[in-house]
Amino acid sequence: MDARTPAGSAFRSEDVARPPLSRFLQRCHAEIAGDRTGAVADYIPELAKANPDHFGISVATTDGYIYEVGDSAVPFTIQSISKAFVFSLALETIGAEKVESLIGVEPSGEAFNSIRLRTDNRPFNPMVNAGAIACSGLVHDVEGSGAFDRILETLGRFAGRTLSVDEAVFASERATGDRNRAIAYLLRNYAVVKGDVDSVLDVYFRQCSVLVTARDIAVMAATLANRGRNPLSGEQVISPYAVARTLSVMTSAGMYDYAGEWIYRVGLPAKSGVGGGIVAALPSQLGLGTYAPLLDSHGNSVRGLKVCVALSSHFDLHLFNRSGDVRNGIAAEYNIGGVSSRRNRQPHEQTILDEHHQYCHVYELTGALTFGVIEYLSRRLVQQRPHSQFVILDLHRVPTITKAAGQVSVS
Ligand code: GLU
Repeated sequence: MDARTPAGSAFRSEDVARPPLSRFLQRCHAEIAGDRTGAVADYIPELAKANPDHFGISVATTDGYIYEVGDSAVPFTIQSISKAFVFSLALETIGAEKVESLIGVEPSGEAFNSIRLRTDNRPFNPMVNAGAIACSGLVHDVEGSGAFDRILETLGRFAGRTLSVDEAVFASERATGDRNRAIAYLLRNYAVVKGDVDSVLDVYFRQCSVLVTARDIAVMAATLANRGRNPLSGEQVISPYAVARTLSVMTSAGMYDYAGEWIYRVGLPAKSGVGGGIVAALPSQLGLGTYAPLLDSHGNSVRGLKVCVALSSHFDLHLFNRSGDVRNGIAAEYNIGGVSSRRNRQPHEQTILDEHHQYCHVYELTGALTFGVIEYLSRRLVQQRPHSQFVILDLHRVPTITKAAGQVSVS
């Protein structure tokens, strides 16, 4: 796509063929590309080699459509973005009870590499280094020397392709990782990490060094948005339970010590990494991946953050600003006397219908049957019960029924 289309430029005829989101992302890229504030991470020497000009955006929808602008195919290391996905793997393979007994879910309000633990000596959450190292340790407990391969394979299933490791970044992480080593030994002291510290850290350093593109992380986010099913491969990568918990910690702690501000302003579960990536998910709708290696003082990509803010505010994507009227779930409501039928009936059948039509009520339902729609419908049914002995629910235009809706109907 042409990344130089000026912002707010006139509507051009060739644009007609492009979906509106494509035009928006392109304008957004062009507007933000000039921002050169921030600095590439240099505490790991290899990361300092990133090209500060790189800037890619990708959006993957839950029906599997991919938008890409700019450097969306440029590989970079996933870094802390891996933490969200490895947490979901730990929940899935080790079980929520064990994982939650060792790793908290409280925002720490501190930098990602803080060495402080909670007063009960557990890491604050899986999005800071202490919690992430604990997660890698849990996977290592179960998988032993196969732990990293399991993680790499899982990240690849989220992305829908086989991923690889940037060996130079891995070596650099390991050579300069004394702070993480200190955290890991502290965790071992409190039996949060049980395995050999160096082996666990090798898993953690390697998972941070996995190469991805903005497109990959958009698909990974779309998999989370799609309740764990990769919208491209169709594979169920992770359970909806693990997805909901992963999105929860992304919401409360995914953006370093900017997490509160982020959810307040942008309103999307997200995770960033010092490699310059940001991943964000809007449940049931889309995954967003951005790559731009210039970081702000919190460690978040400056341009990536601006893209997220622009997308969220332009399309009103804030998670807590949802609209919807449960009454719209009932498209029509009538008793069967009010409808004509082309069906031939026996005279005695017709007599019954003529005499009793007011006792048989039809509800034509439309759209997904959610908790709210079923609660509203069932309340109406109860209120109308004295008049209608028979109820017909027409589900022709109902594509899905949520679990919560099912619960209301059987309660
Ligand atoms: N490799 C990094 C570290 O633990 C991950 C940092 C990040 O992306 O926040 O130092």
